[in-house]
Amino acid sequence: MHRTSLETVGIRYTGWAALNRDPLEDTVEYTCPHCGTKGAKAARRPRAVYHFTDGFVQDLQGEMSACRKCRKSLRVAPVVLVHDREEQRRFNAVFLAELEVSKN
Ligand SMILES: [Zn+2]
Repeated sequence: MHRTSLETVGIRYTGWAALNRDPLEDTVEYTCPHCGTKGAKAARRPRAVYHFTDGFVQDLQGEMSACRKCRKSLRVAPVVLVHDREEQRRFNAVFLAELEVSKN
């Protein structure tokens, strides 16, 4: 079987953006590039590996995961740290627009 691991953008909420969430829960959220199912995984990489790139604090190496629905492996990269509403808005504008385009 031919296995490829596609990449998808991950988002890790922190600060204000994580206020309505369990503080012990530190997850990276993503959308499966194979089937479009939304998923989340526990964030493993330390914040120290995140660097300010293109207006966001990102981990460009990302993390590996597997979709809970189609079970295919995927790479979550970059993982973007979002800490407030303004960054959330910019993230949506920059990354989600890009994802929509790459689907077509
Ligand atoms: Zn999937």
